[in-house]
Amino acid sequence: MDEGEILEISENPGSPCAIRNPAGLSKGRIEDNAYANALAQFDKAVSHLHLKHGVMDMLRCPKRELSVNFPVMMDSGDIRIFRGYRVHHSVVKGPTKGGIRYSPNVTLDEVRALAMWMTWKCALMNLPYGGAKGGVIVNPKELSTRELERLTRRYATEISVLMGPESDIPAPDVGTNPQVMAWIMDTYSMHRGFSVPAVVTGKPVEIGGSLGRTEATGRGVGFCILEALKLRGISPENATVAIQGFGNVGSVTARMAHELGMKVVAISSSKGGLYKPDGIDPRMVTRHLERGGSVTDFPGPDSISNEDLLTLDCDVVIAAAIENQITSQNADRIKARIVAEGANGPTTPEADEILDEKGAFIIPDILCNAGGVIVSYLEWVQDLQSFFWPVDEINRKLQYLMAKAFESVIEATKQFKVSNREAAQILAIQRISDAILIRGIYP
Ligand code: NAD
Repeated sequence: MDEGEILEISENPGSPCAIRNPAGLSKGRIEDNAYANALAQFDKAVSHLHLKHGVMDMLRCPKRELSVNFPVMMDSGDIRIFRGYRVHHSVVKGPTKGGIRYSPNVTLDEVRALAMWMTWKCALMNLPYGGAKGGVIVNPKELSTRELERLTRRYATEISVLMGPESDIPAPDVGTNPQVMAWIMDTYSMHRGFSVPAVVTGKPVEIGGSLGRTEATGRGVGFCILEALKLRGISPENATVAIQGFGNVGSVTARMAHELGMKVVAISSSKGGLYKPDGIDPRMVTRHLERGGSVTDFPGPDSISNEDLLTLDCDVVIAAAIENQITSQNADRIKARIVAEGANGPTTPEADEILDEKGAFIIPDILCNAGGVIVSYLEWVQDLQSFFWPVDEINRKLQYLMAKAFESVIEATKQFKVSNREAAQILAIQRISDAILIRGIYP
């Protein structure tokens, strides 16, 4: 989608941040746009707060955006130009934090939305960070390892004007992994002339990564699901779960759900899914992937499409792939009583309304998948102090912060009489607004 097409300044023309959806675009196209969705969520949440207009305008648009076009030498000797982004949404609470995505579908609007959600997520978790996100338009599976390394090192160099342990700390996201983080850390360190492990999180443990980081997001999702099941009066042993996306987040969540006695009836990757009513053992699928297989060629279960997986008759559906998966087109067919957002932005505002009407319990992304940024924060702290904690300590801190945030969101739903998502965003936005006003507007 062409970013320029979807958003325009129509209200309060004096402010460049008063962005509204243009009247001329069809609902479907706006619903496809993650940034338009993030803004619609923001508008809904702030309607319950008494924020200054200027503060609202400030929070509606990113603090800064960097677009880069850069060359990479391919193995064939050809030079290819790639496009990448790094967006900082807010720098009020501290350095910015947010993942880097490698995907052919990356757009500037997607990165803007993901950066905004990172601001809310860090604020909800009371972490001393602002929100950021980065992305490169590339299918990493089409590159050799050496090409991926050259692309990563060049992109890291291009965004190094923003990056740093005190200014902007990237982490993995869709299409990137600990090895990519290691190359970023090494590139930044080579430019500085000494090792700077705290410049990225989600690194391998051997170079300053934290124990428990790889599993952290999935563990946090699992923790939230347990709390939601408790509130809905369903015991884990009787719960059936369908999981869209069997990557870092989805596979860890699946294994945790299985260990807690839940029946994982369906899983999927971008190529399609597997369905088995009496349960799939996610540990076996993980082993199959480690041996070079893919989700869709795992022997045994029936095939299912990603679309049909979301509408299965089960207790919990976990959206752990990408944004805009539960929309006005399929929300009325969702049967699960609990929707856990392992992914960022998987449910559009239109779908939110339909699910709320049906009484589904949505665990919103900024709460549900915050385990990742929590342990990224713990990794950064450990790197800065050069003193590392055992995994039990990490998991204890993770659980404490998740539990506190979960409880505060449920309390806010009662206080403001709003959905879980609105409650989570209200808490986060209020904290950022308070911080802006306490700091004051420079000069
Ligand atoms: P990943 O690349 O490890 O896995 C993504 C999974 O989703 C893969 O199985 C992929 O095949 C599948 N997928 C991709 N496109 C799909 C589509 N159109 N339909 C169905 N499946 C599709 O990525 P990840 O790190 O697990 O991230 C998944 C989501 O979780 C993203 O939204 C990401 O922003 C969010 N998230 C990740 C972390 C983290 O720590 N990795 C933290 C917070 C949030």
